[in-house]
Amino acid sequence: MRPQLSRKNLVVFTGAGISAESGLQTFRGDGGLWEGHRVEDVATPEAWAKDPALVLEFYNVRRRNVRAAQPNAAHRALVDLESAYDVRIITQNVDDLHERAGSTHVLHLHGEILYARSTRESSHTAYLGDHDIALGDTCPLGSQLRPHIVWFGEQVPALDEAARIVSQADIFLCVGTSLEVYPANSLIFATPRRARRIVVNPEVPDLVPRDVCECIAKTACEGVPELVASLLLATTKL
Ligand code: NAD
Repeated sequence: MRPQLSRKNLVVFTGAGISAESGLQTFRGDGGLWEGHRVEDVATPEAWAKDPALVLEFYNVRRRNVRAAQPNAAHRALVDLESAYDVRIITQNVDDLHERAGSTHVLHLHGEILYARSTRESSHTAYLGDHDIALGDTCPLGSQLRPHIVWFGEQVPALDEAARIVSQADIFLCVGTSLEVYPANSLIFATPRRARRIVVNPEVPDLVPRDVCECIAKTACEGVPELVASLLLATTKL
């Protein structure tokens, strides 16, 4: 048993890159398209107003891909950290791979693709299981269901809670994000000055403040298990 008093707050901020080696494409793929689509056509309130059938189909396909994917070595290594640290995961991802790996505290900034949401009352959500969402599928209030996703141009309801968690970090670990999506990308600047900040990304983004960050230019499946091993070793030397 490790002494409880020495447990540090370790905040992990993840993006699409951590799920890339599980077979889920990142956002900034081929020529700026996301799975062959312009973001404006599938992931905005304007797209939903213009062509809801296209938006639903886009997310139905993404949802099937998520269900078929499995957590990878990086997701699993983050679970191991919980034996020695108070771990909070803040993810921009809409997949459930952190939860399926076994992480216990996961905050989704941009929603969860396995849930549907009422278009009339945003607090009404429902787990979709193996179901798609079709035009005409309604909530108990009678309004169309939409994916439980924060689209570009929408408020990020969990942002304040995420900023509060980050402000208490002793260690801030940032994995697989381009830091290009606002306002989530502001979180790296909400870390306390005393915090150790570590970035794992094979292509460390220019937006990373390198003067205050340790950068590990490796993929998540290479870099995260190695880092986790060293963080766990550090606690045995206290
Ligand atoms: P992004 O696509 O903008 O950037 C991905 C980052 O991951 C890049 O910096 C890239 O260098 C890095 N990367 C690529 N392969 C990697 C690997 N094997 N290991 C580690 N890093 C790797 O992703 P973002 O910053 O998360 O922003 C994209 C937005 O799109 C998010 O808001 C998210 O909700 C959404 N999105 C989610 C998923 C998902 O849930 N799995 C997938 C695609 C997009």
